[in-house]
Amino acid sequence: MVHVAQIAVEVSPFAKVGGLGDVIHGLGLKLQELGHQVSTIIPFYSHIDRRELNDLHPIDEVESFYNGQMHKNRIWTAHSHKLKLFLIEPLHTHRFFERGAIYGSHDDTDRFLYFSRAALTLLHKWEKKGNQANVIHYHDWHSAAVGPLYRSLFQPQETRPSRLIFTIHNFAYQGCCGIDCLERVGLPPEFYQNSKDMWGDDYNCINLLKSGIVYADKVTTVSPNHAEEVLTREGGHGLHKTLLRFKNKFSGILNGIDYEYWNPETDPFLKEGFKKGITETPHSKLHYKEMLQKRFGLEVGDIPLVACVTRLVPQKGIELIQHAIHYTLQKQGQFILSGSCAPGEIQKQFESLGHLYRNSRSVHLKLAYNEELTHQIFAASDFFVVPSLFEPCGLTPLIALRYGSIPIVRQTGGLSDSIKDVEQSPEGNGFVFRNYNTKDLEKVFDRALSKWTRDKDLWNQFVDHGMDIDNSWSKPALSYLKLYKG
Ligand code: ADP
Repeated sequence: MVHVAQIAVEVSPFAKVGGLGDVIHGLGLKLQELGHQVSTIIPFYSHIDRRELNDLHPIDEVESFYNGQMHKNRIWTAHSHKLKLFLIEPLHTHRFFERGAIYGSHDDTDRFLYFSRAALTLLHKWEKKGNQANVIHYHDWHSAAVGPLYRSLFQPQETRPSRLIFTIHNFAYQGCCGIDCLERVGLPPEFYQNSKDMWGDDYNCINLLKSGIVYADKVTTVSPNHAEEVLTREGGHGLHKTLLRFKNKFSGILNGIDYEYWNPETDPFLKEGFKKGITETPHSKLHYKEMLQKRFGLEVGDIPLVACVTRLVPQKGIELIQHAIHYTLQKQGQFILSGSCAPGEIQKQFESLGHLYRNSRSVHLKLAYNEELTHQIFAASDFFVVPSLFEPCGLTPLIALRYGSIPIVRQTGGLSDSIKDVEQSPEGNGFVFRNYNTKDLEKVFDRALSKWTRDKDLWNQFVDHGMDIDNSWSKPALSYLKLYKG
């Protein structure tokens, strides 16, 4: 049995912004199901809905170092959908996790460095008590400093080192900061002075993501194709040289989705139930389509419904999402968007778009994070569009398939691994376009919409095939276990 400690700053469903939260939840549950001990360590955000946490109670206190002093942290434990959690509540005057949101504070780097060190301090306490985690699996730039902190401060005190696995869910966010941040978290200076290992490849700033790569035993990203892309200058987000240097310990494992959580037949957000089967699914889907059409004042009926559920950030192909909305209308379809975005230019653009279509009976834009609505959108929609500029994995098309919504995706990153064009491959499960431009988007929409219109029986078979594909955690969890065992 492996004891793996997952250190991350998101976990689905109650502390989630995007796919990172899904992975921590889904992978952890699958590993538990396979008989392994999984300790998921996350910050105790004050804004989370505590009703999502079963049997929440404090179990311990640990003192961890920050900015020249020791600070107390209260450790809580709870279960979320059977996943065992340990939540760190810093009793620090900066109130690091009482900001109303996971990301977006001016001191995010300090908040997550503080958390990384506190999490390792907790693990060290367990090690002394004989409950060592054999594997420390840390994720993205937020907990990347676990690598150098463990190697410099904790490993030297332990008889048997834990194995360090680092997973990068998104190379676009790297945690660039000054050395003052590392001083505050107490990393020994020899780790960042005169060392190329903590500085970004361009030497502009300390690069936490890079440090996570350097000090891990194994590094993964979330699809095999993206693992290839980031080894190139064009796709490497400035880290291709580092990745090439550590090529032998780097690989891509395609994410799964949690088949219990994302199960249309038992989904608690689909109150009327969802029946699966070649004849039943179309009825269920039409029911949810009409429900959303009525709720959002759209024309009611079996009109082709295109959906998009996403963080609205440049990576997701903002121009093409907007074009997809206009073009769907032009083709007499309907479009529902559930998009979460931080205040700024992109938000303004979508607000104006919402204003433009405020009286439309074909478009509804919801500019917020909404878990319940998202499940209903997956159930109701016929098509799910993901026109990303780059996409490390792309979980939403996998969820869409499970809910009988056919992905229309750009051929990039993990989407190239998971979605094959129905007109080009016998295993086709979606519609794929290659070039990032409106012409190609229109062409792929034409193909998808005409297939939907032409032959409903064929379409229903296609949907049924998509729902039967196994995109669960069963296979990827075994790939992670292989890495854990070395
Ligand atoms: P990323 O990790 O880049 O955000 P993924 O497609 O891999 O993209 O994962 C996104 C996850 O976040 C999915 O579970 C999706 O349902 C969820 N999500 C994204 N935007 C929203 C939103 N506005 N409301 C609810 N859930 C969202």
